[in-house]
Amino acid sequence: AHLSDLIAAGEVVERPASVVKELVENAIDAGATTIAVDISRGGMGRIRITDNGCGIAPTELPTAFLRHATSKLHTAEDLGAIATLGFRGEALAAICAVSRLEITSCQKGESQGASLFLEGGVPQTVETVGAPQGTTICVEDLFYNTPARLKFMRKDSAETAAISGLMQQLSLSHPDLSFRLKKDGQETLQTAGDGKLQSAIYGALGADFAKTLVPVKGSGDGISVEGFVTQPLKGRGSRGMQFFFVNGRLVKSALMTSALEEGYRAQLMKGRFPGCVLHITLPVELVDVNVHPAKTQVKFAKEKAVFDAVFYTVLDCLAKSGG
Ligand code: ADP
Ligand code: MG
Repeated sequence: AHLSDLIAAGEVVERPASVVKELVENAIDAGATTIAVDISRGGMGRIRITDNGCGIAPTELPTAFLRHATSKLHTAEDLGAIATLGFRGEALAAICAVSRLEITSCQKGESQGASLFLEGGVPQTVETVGAPQGTTICVEDLFYNTPARLKFMRKDSAETAAISGLMQQLSLSHPDLSFRLKKDGQETLQTAGDGKLQSAIYGALGADFAKTLVPVKGSGDGISVEGFVTQPLKGRGSRGMQFFFVNGRLVKSALMTSALEEGYRAQLMKGRFPGCVLHITLPVELVDVNVHPAKTQVKFAKEKAVFDAVFYTVLDCLAKSGG
């Protein structure tokens, strides 16, 4: 690979979880309804992602791995509108530059697909293969040719945890899609994709967590709040099970955490750290999800209104549930 590709790669591909994130986002963009992720050794051994999306034509396969190759932008105007979301045609180029990668893809209605192997970004020849509709990308030996990066990788267990957390977020923000995660041969996450948040919670956060959910739904001042709150799991003295989404995007917000916890406390519920999966929807002009696409901070134009919407919705719904 060229040096410039390796430098660009370092910015896009920080760790295995960033590879998973980019590849799953591509699968979602491709219209997939089922997305299976299979990793070994925290993704450092292998990351394999299979989707049932639109697929890529055999002749387009090598092109998809070129830098700035994207099928998602057509005019300079699009670029302005979309650049902040990271649709820049960099992900596949970056990932293949620092790994051994094999892609197999078949378009809808075609009986034959094609596969391509790239080593350090260098493509071999495209081969015709039989394959189901969709795309499978298998990334092996991540960072094998960038020893400096390899040296700074954390333990496999930390990488596994990061990927699990990411898959939980993706599952909870897309209840209409079916996700699966296999870690070293063991299936640890599987969601139904039936469009119900409760099913996604069950599949992503586990049966124990899903057992005691209280549905929450309400709105105030044009801000709608919908989801579930629950007793924290035993032994979880933390806020690790609080998931807040603002307009579909996972955020960390001290404001929403305290609105939740105060609503919970006002109902005299036990446990200091309730768990929750709450989707907050409000007009985009009232929210500033910060600058950097990877950041999860958020700023609200009307903080009091957001606090009240969450607080009173949680309070009312807990009261109604008899909690
Ligand atoms: P971007 O997503 O910014 O367009 P990527 O480097 O992530 O850039 O992907 C390059 C192109 O490869 C995409 O624009 C898309 O056309 C194609 N592609 C990537 N992944 C898939 C997939 N899973 N299914 C179908 N097409 C894909
Ligand atoms: Mg992409």
